Amino acid sequence: MKAVVFPEPGRLEIREVPDPKPAPDEVVLEVKASGICATDIHIFLGEFIATYPVIPGHEFSGEVVEVGREVRRFKVGDRVAVDPCIYCHSCPACRSHEENFCHNLKAYGIHLSGGFAEYVAVKESNLYGIEGLSWEEGAMVEPVGCAVHGLNQIAPLKPGGHGLIFGAGPIGLINMQLYLNAGLSTVTVVDLMEHKLKIAEELGATYTVLADDDMDGRLKEIRPEGFDLVVDATGNPKVVESMFRYVADRGKLLFFGVCPPDSRISISPYEVYKRELKIYGSFSLLYTASRAVELIRSGRVKVEPLISHRFPLERFEEAFRLKREDPNPMKVMITGGGAG
Ligand SMILES: [Zn+2]
Ligand SMILES: [Zn+2]
Repeated sequence: MKAVVFPEPGRLEIREVPDPKPAPDEVVLEVKASGICATDIHIFLGEFIATYPVIPGHEFSGEVVEVGREVRRFKVGDRVAVDPCIYCHSCPACRSHEENFCHNLKAYGIHLSGGFAEYVAVKESNLYGIEGLSWEEGAMVEPVGCAVHGLNQIAPLKPGGHGLIFGAGPIGLINMQLYLNAGLSTVTVVDLMEHKLKIAEELGATYTVLADDDMDGRLKEIRPEGFDLVVDATGNPKVVESMFRYVADRGKLLFFGVCPPDSRISISPYEVYKRELKIYGSFSLLYTASRAVELIRSGRVKVEPLISHRFPLERFEEAFRLKREDPNPMKVMITGGGAG
């Protein structure tokens, strides 16, 4: 079969590799849609704990084409999405129900062959049925699952409260929809790009603000007393540092975007103390894929408007370059197997 391979950091090949065979507890999927994520860029650059060579791709959906002999819940022809995380279930973190911190964490597309290929073998335990979802919606289950895990960290939200999100990319706008569902009365979204703010408006943003010289005044005008929830979905340390300017007393700050590991910001501990601020992080997902499927299926979280570009697997290099070098795209999707 054809697959994208990162043989080592900094190298990308599209080449023939052996077709996967299912282990007894695995199925083989024909990959139908597979989203490119910023994490894939970090893996390519060698900035993320991956093992090489690797077939990347951890946000994908597909059709079951072969099942291992112990597989019970899925059969050939089933439509599924994949939770890419494999936990050891025996380390101290796993035994404390904190599997996303598993000391032996492995993931499809990071340590094991992932979704930028024609076929991939996946454990039955990592599959979620996606009846009623499109293939591309299925490929968005993983990022929505990460956002649901983030909401679990900061819940409960203040009913009728006000939210502010920096970053109108796919993750920012998935979070926005979750917060509106979860009871905030307004969510304001900030971005550098007009066309992304337009998508935010179409998906229900209460206010959108362009990140220009007028941004500060505009945000103060919208909420003079500050926002109850301020979320970073940019991964830019400067933006994260600025969040404290806009959070209300006793407000919550969620660092969702992935900042460079060695970056540092300056905050006032006195301000955190005096204003009773609450700072949250959120890493990966934790058994939230099934709820992500439900949210997408019900239409409460709309993901198709977040997809801006589609490429076949053969044009992966072009798609990856676009994702790396151009700030304009939203989600870039690799489609295959006649998914269109
Ligand atoms: Zn991802
Ligand atoms: Zn573990």
